Amino acid sequence: MHVIKLTGYLLIFSFILIGCSDSDDDTPITDALQVGNKRPLGTSANDLLSDTNFNSLTIEIVSVQGYEPTTTTITGFKQFLQERLFKPDGIIITQRTLPSSNKRPFTIDEIIEIENNTRTLFNQEDDITVYIYFADGSKEDDTNEKVTLGSAYLNTSIVIYENTLRKLSIKPNSPSLATIEIATLNHEFSHLLGLVNIGTALQSEHEDSDSKGHCNTPGCLMEAAIEFGGGMGIGNGVPKLDPQCIADLQANGGR
Ligand SMILES: [Zn+2]
Ligand SMILES: [Zn+2]
Repeated sequence: MHVIKLTGYLLIFSFILIGCSDSDDDTPITDALQVGNKRPLGTSANDLLSDTNFNSLTIEIVSVQGYEPTTTTITGFKQFLQERLFKPDGIIITQRTLPSSNKRPFTIDEIIEIENNTRTLFNQEDDITVYIYFADGSKEDDTNEKVTLGSAYLNTSIVIYENTLRKLSIKPNSPSLATIEIATLNHEFSHLLGLVNIGTALQSEHEDSDSKGHCNTPGCLMEAAIEFGGGMGIGNGVPKLDPQCIADLQANGGR
C-alpha cells in the first residue's frame, strides 16, 4: 500500500514582540489595540478555552483567491472548536479572499508581514479573535521528504500552506482535501490552545520527547507525524485528540 509519511507539522516557537508600546504617547491607537494579538504562541490558551475573559470567538480567515478552504472544512473545524471551547456567545468564522502576495515560498517573517497588512480583527471587549491565512504556496524549507502543512506562529495567528495541502490531496490513496484541511486546522488551533505543554500544563506525561509541543500517543491529532493510508490517522478520517490532550485542555478551562 502506498503510504505517505508526513513529518510535516511544524511548530513555531515564537518569541516575537511586536508593537511593544512602551508607554509612548505617540503610539497609534491601532497598535495599542493589537497588543493582545501579538504575543507568543500559547499565551492565549486559557482565553481561547474558557469564558473567563472572553465570551465569544471570531475567526478571520483570509485566503488567497483560488486557495479557499472547502465549506465542509469550515463546518468540521467549527464543530471541533464547539466541542472544546466555552464560548457562550458563540464562535463566528468570517471569510475573505485577496490576491496573491507573490512571495511564495514563505518564511514566517513574510507570513507575519502579510498578517500585518491584511488582518482587520483584533480582541475587543469580550470577543477574542484569531487570524488564519490560507497561503498559495509552501513553507520555504520544505523538502521532498518533509512538508509543512501549517504553522501556529503567534498567540492568535495561524498559516495554512494550502498549495501543499492540495498537492497532497491528489496523490494516490490520499484523504480528501477537506479531511486534510480539517486535520491541519484542528492541529494548528490546538497549538493556540497550548498543546502540548506550550501554555497549557501537562496533566500526564505525553509530550513527544523528539518533537516539542507534540503528543506521543499514536493516532492523536497532536502527533508530530501522521501517516496516511496505513489504517491509522488521516487515512481513516480526521484524527482526534486523545484523552490525555483533552484532559490538559479541560484543566486549563476547556470543555
Ligand atoms: Zn504541530
Ligand atoms: Zn494527544
